[in-house]
Amino acid sequence: MRTVATVADMRRVRRSLSGTLGFIPTMGALHAGHLSLVERARTECATVVASIFVNPLQFGPNEDFERYPRTPDRDAQALARAGVDVLFAPQRAEMYPPGAQFSVVPGSLATYLEGDRRPGFFTGVATVVLKLFNIVTPDVAYFGQKDAQQLAVVTRMVRDLDVPVRVAACPTVREPDGLALSSRNAYLDDAQRAAAPHLHAALVQIAHALEGGQRDVCAAVAQAEAALPPLKMDYLAVVDPAVFEPLRTAPGKAALLAVGAAFAGSTRLIDNVEVQTP
Ligand code: AMP
Repeated sequence: MRTVATVADMRRVRRSLSGTLGFIPTMGALHAGHLSLVERARTECATVVASIFVNPLQFGPNEDFERYPRTPDRDAQALARAGVDVLFAPQRAEMYPPGAQFSVVPGSLATYLEGDRRPGFFTGVATVVLKLFNIVTPDVAYFGQKDAQQLAVVTRMVRDLDVPVRVAACPTVREPDGLALSSRNAYLDDAQRAAAPHLHAALVQIAHALEGGQRDVCAAVAQAEAALPPLKMDYLAVVDPAVFEPLRTAPGKAALLAVGAAFAGSTRLIDNVEVQTP
């Protein structure tokens, strides 16, 4: 595996590659969820590029940018073992030289739920992802369904801005007890780790209610809230995965998502479960 740190080197390496290029953008602290994206790219593409960049633009002033887990050596070993050909790992100044005047501002899709709780988050995500697409110029980019609203924002950006890349959605990798793998799970102490699967359990409960014919989303959410403690609810909602505006009533014969965020201590967990209404 080659590791490159500058935009110029990444462009040079890109020019030497032929065949389908698969790309997996990450913020590092890699786990089996990230590696499942690499494995999928490996099976579909001639060459696989991964990036590691903890993007300051997508962290709020009171969020965990400084303490976000960073395990660069372990990550590089894991990516090499998984068959990544090129790792793009730029420093902050390489991605954001001082004086930038432009960013990518998504529309209403990014104003609900995660966008409401984390102002500026999706502008940060869209801006860094478009920059990475422009630097790496992949044919296919792999994103996890774990971050469903992010996946929707990136998919919509690619469509609205005619970005020549195919976005591939990959299923969420979970612990045996249902907890979605996340770099932030490293923050959890034993008691918080024991409570963390309650978010997935609450979302599964909402999915079962709606799949059983319940149409009243507020009622389904109210019942599922009881499954959350000792986690503290941030939100539970049901959305059309392309729109993300919380629904009050579930339409029939629809592919929806039950989405949620909850706090285990100060650690914020997010997750989602697919819902197919009858
Ligand atoms: P991150 O490093 O958290 O920015 O995530 C990088 C990519 O990995 C994103 O596309 C995530 O959606 C994806 N990802 C994170 N956790 C998981 C998981 N548990 N299962 C599948 N994909 C994941």
